[in-house]
Amino acid sequence: LMVLTKKLIEVRNLLKTVDNNAKMTLPSIVVIGSQSSGKSSVLEAIVGHEFLPKGNNMVTRRPIELTLIHTPDSKEEFAEFPQLGLGKVHDFKNVQRTLTDLNLAVPDTECVSNSPIELRVYSPNVPDLTLVDLPGYIQIHNRNQPAVLKEKIADLCESYIREPNIILAVCSADVDLANSEALRASRKVDPSGKRTIGVVTKMDLVEEETGVGILKNKDYPLQLGYVGVVCKKTGPDVDSQAIIRSEDAFFGNHPAYRSNRLMVGTSTLRRRLMEVLEDHMGRSLHKISDAVQTELDEARYQFKVHYNDRRISAESYVAESIDTLKQKFKEFAKQFGKPQVREEVRSMLEQRLLDICADVYWSDSRVSNLPRLCLSDPFWQGRLDVSSGALTKSGVGRSSVQLVVDVLMRNMERLTSTEPWVHHAEGRQKVMDFSNDLLRAKFHTAVDQVENTIKPYKFEVECTELEWQEGQKRAVATLEKQLAEAQQGLQVIKSTVGRRKLRNAIKYVQKADREASFRKQQSATSNELETGPSEVLDNPDHPAFNLKLMERAREALDLQSRATLLQTRVGALRSRQCSTADNKACCPEVFLSVVAEKLTYTAVMFIWVELLNEFFFQLPREIDNKLYYDLSRKEIMAFAKENPVVAKHLEVQEKKTTLEIVMEKLRELQRKR
Ligand code: GDP
Repeated sequence: LMVLTKKLIEVRNLLKTVDNNAKMTLPSIVVIGSQSSGKSSVLEAIVGHEFLPKGNNMVTRRPIELTLIHTPDSKEEFAEFPQLGLGKVHDFKNVQRTLTDLNLAVPDTECVSNSPIELRVYSPNVPDLTLVDLPGYIQIHNRNQPAVLKEKIADLCESYIREPNIILAVCSADVDLANSEALRASRKVDPSGKRTIGVVTKMDLVEEETGVGILKNKDYPLQLGYVGVVCKKTGPDVDSQAIIRSEDAFFGNHPAYRSNRLMVGTSTLRRRLMEVLEDHMGRSLHKISDAVQTELDEARYQFKVHYNDRRISAESYVAESIDTLKQKFKEFAKQFGKPQVREEVRSMLEQRLLDICADVYWSDSRVSNLPRLCLSDPFWQGRLDVSSGALTKSGVGRSSVQLVVDVLMRNMERLTSTEPWVHHAEGRQKVMDFSNDLLRAKFHTAVDQVENTIKPYKFEVECTELEWQEGQKRAVATLEKQLAEAQQGLQVIKSTVGRRKLRNAIKYVQKADREASFRKQQSATSNELETGPSEVLDNPDHPAFNLKLMERAREALDLQSRATLLQTRVGALRSRQCSTADNKACCPEVFLSVVAEKLTYTAVMFIWVELLNEFFFQLPREIDNKLYYDLSRKEIMAFAKENPVVAKHLEVQEKKTTLEIVMEKLRELQRKR
């Protein structure tokens, strides 16, 4: 019973899933032979399918590690390329195409590559075998096949025919065995022929008598013997069954082979290969067990030393990462209440208020007399209506919702830029994407709601005395903050330029401006060219030669006049006239502040209901779904392995587990023998 080979093939496939040094010690059957010796035909006869690349331009350029897995309980026949992850390939024409592509991907300049292609075939009709197909030895070399290629192929074959592998030396019956490259190569590494099987192909091309002579192997004896086969294709679309039938017919017509008790036929070859491999597997069992044990001891040691025997799983890692994120989000949501949202919206509207004031009032020279002038002047009442409208009709709905969305997205960005999410660029992008989706879904409703509810303010804003007083405080504070900023800016210029220098520069700029405006009036009549003030031309130390300084001086002048204006306005807002809502028109900053505050309250109330509530509720669920429940096991594993620390931990743990399983299997096999 051939159980050992099957079990050990399983072991080998297991060992391949972890990085280790023990895997190559399991024997395989390595197929070597000259080009056109019939190597492919023999392999295809063993597998029962045509699947190898065909063509005369060196179609086998990489080793093909072929694992045949006998599946007696299944009718399904398919191949798999474990390295490519294509899944099951049922059509062997596709296997052939894929192998051709993989081989031709090796550039012509390299000709052959040492990196093997792995191929597995599952079928009820194949024996359990591991075979390696290698590029055929070449005889002649022409322009396309330089001399170095011959050597390269020989080297590649030599690396595969070492112990403990079994050599399948393919020779053609119509070529003198003395000239067989395969036998020559095998004799070098296996002089007594203990692990070489000779396969003599094209038996139909020689006379029975000659054939018998070859198979009796008097001249080049091999302990495992020679098997004669006929794998000739009789037509373009002939199936393997037909080939075997015609082979059977051939040997039936040539009784001398059987009567001399010689090994002939593909089925005999298969059987022989199974026996030999099983036998060698048995001999390797001890050695491989030792190798695996050593690896296992090392893995156990690593696991203990580095991870204190602590087991982790990709699932628990993903779950923990998600919990961390949800926890952080919860904290953020807790501290991002209505007051915080209001603060954001308020400061946006405050900026707008300042712009409107600068536009409508502060650039007007009459504004200095505002408190006294406005009391009975309809002009200022009109101004107030214009400014209030400018604020209420400035698209508060869209901008306040957008503002909140931006704040939320910035925070999501911040929450995902910490451990362990720094390792998961794709995961982070997902979080950003579905956060954005959630917010986008609510965006327009929220905007419309806000616009609808602030609509009345576009026509009229009523204001109680209390609201006015609050507004007054806020307006004063806002303007004082602006004032402080202007003063600080001025201070910075003074200290960087120097007080004296700045004073002189300012004087100069003022003078230049006066002269320029004077000349402008003149040039309306005369047509003179503009030049700077006269003394500049005579004085190279003059500040006008320093453009940068001039710029700073102008900046200082602007800040000065802004500070003066703000001071006047703060004074006015603090005055008695501005302490009551009756004088709205005299104190536009206060009134606008009242309007801004009403807008803020209303907007935030609806943003809260329409956008934030939903977002705070939905996001943790989305995190669970999109980052955990929607992922396959494979994706979860890939996610966990993005974190290098976790990847290493999992790797050592997996290796240890796999080696333990392998060791258990090997022990059982040893017990049975
Ligand atoms: P490879 O280059 O060693 O893989 O050789 P192939 O399997 O491609 O065979 C080379 C040629 O020999 C092809 O034209 C085959 O059809 C032919 N051939 C293979 N086996 C036999 C056989 O048993 N008898 C005869 N007459 N021709 C064969």
